[in-house]
Amino acid sequence: MKKAIAILGSTGSIGKQCLEVVSIFPSRLRVAALATRDDVDAIVEQVKKFQPRIISVLNDEAKAKVEAKLAGAKVQIFTGAEGLLKVATAADAKMVVVAIPGSLTLTAVLEAVKLKKDIALATKEVLVAAGDIFMSEAKAAGVKIFPIDSEHSAIAQCLRGEDRKTVKKIILTASGGPFLKTPAEKLALMTAKEALKHPTWKMGPKITIDSATLMNKGFEVIEAHHLFGLDYAQIEVVIHPESIIHSLVEFVDGSIKAQLGAPDMRVPIQYALLEEERQANHWGRLDFSKVTGLTFAKPDLAKFPCLEYAYTAGKAKGTLPAVLNAANEEAVNQFLKGKFNFDQIAVKIKAVLAKVPNKENPTLEEILAVDKQARETVNHGG
Ligand code: MG
Repeated sequence: MKKAIAILGSTGSIGKQCLEVVSIFPSRLRVAALATRDDVDAIVEQVKKFQPRIISVLNDEAKAKVEAKLAGAKVQIFTGAEGLLKVATAADAKMVVVAIPGSLTLTAVLEAVKLKKDIALATKEVLVAAGDIFMSEAKAAGVKIFPIDSEHSAIAQCLRGEDRKTVKKIILTASGGPFLKTPAEKLALMTAKEALKHPTWKMGPKITIDSATLMNKGFEVIEAHHLFGLDYAQIEVVIHPESIIHSLVEFVDGSIKAQLGAPDMRVPIQYALLEEERQANHWGRLDFSKVTGLTFAKPDLAKFPCLEYAYTAGKAKGTLPAVLNAANEEAVNQFLKGKFNFDQIAVKIKAVLAKVPNKENPTLEEILAVDKQARETVNHGG
C-alpha cells in the first residue's frame, strides 16, 4: 500500500534525500505535501515530479514566484506558520517528516501528532525544546516516532528485540567536527567559512556548526533521553572520527551491540520512511577492505563546553533545554553572519543559560515565550 508523507523542509539536505528515497520506492511512498522556505526553483521541480496537493513557502513574495512557474498545476500554496500547519496536517499524510532546523515547526508538529500522524524526526529542536510535551502527546495519540538521525536510528536498531530493562547504557558516537584536532586557542580565530567544512557528513549550515561545537551531540543526548526513556547517566558520548559505528548499546551483561554502515543519511531515512522495514539499499555500502581503522576518544569538554551545557540543561528539565536551543540557534545565526568568532558561540549560550530563569513543567506557550526571551538575550543582553 502506498503511504502518503508530508515533508517539512523538502528542499534542505534531509528533505531532498527523503525525496530520493521516495523515488526509489514508488509503490510504497508518495508525497502529500511539501514545505520549503524560499527555494523557489527547487520546490517547483519537486511539485512537478512528486505532485503534492499542498505546499508551503515562507511568504507572499516566494508564493508569487512559485505560482508564476506553476501556472495550471493542481496544488494549493500556503505561506508562513499557517503553511507549515497545512503541510503538517495534510489530510492524506500518514507520516510527517520534520526536517526544518530550529523551533519553527513545534506547533505544526504537535498538531500532526494530535491527528495521529507518525513522525519521522530529523529536527532535533522538537525534542530538545519540548521533549516532555511532545513525547506525552505522542504516547496519548499512539503515534510512532522514527528518528532520522544516524545515531538514534542506530540505537533503535540495536534495541530491536531487546528488553529495555536490560539496557545498561547507550553510547552515541560523534565525528568530533572539523575542529577536533584544532588547538583550543586557535578556535577563537575560526570563521564561519572554516567551520562549514565538515569532514564526513554533508549537511546544512546550522547542523554543521552545531557539529563543530558538539552542541549537535548535546542535542542528540537530550533527544535520546526522550526517545528511549533513559536517564542522562545512561547516555554517553564517544568521539569516533570515522563515523562508521553510528552508535552502540551496552546491556547489563556487558554485551555491546553496535550498528555500522557507510556514512550516508539515506540509509536511516529509508529505514524511517519504511517504518523500520529492511529493504534493499540503493546507496553506498561499507567496504571493510577500505576501512583502515576505527578510533575512539573521550570528548574534550573544556574545548567543547556546549556538550556539557546540553547535559546540564537536559538534567534541569523545565524550560532550560528550550533556552539552550534558542540561545544556540541565535548564536549560530550570528556566527554564520560573521558577527563573532567560533569560541563566542559557547560564551553567549552560557550567559543566556545563567540569565533566563528555569520554569518547571512548562506549557508549549511558555516554551515559545522563553524561546523568544532567550533569543533576545543573545541579541541584546547576553
Ligand atoms: Mg547525528
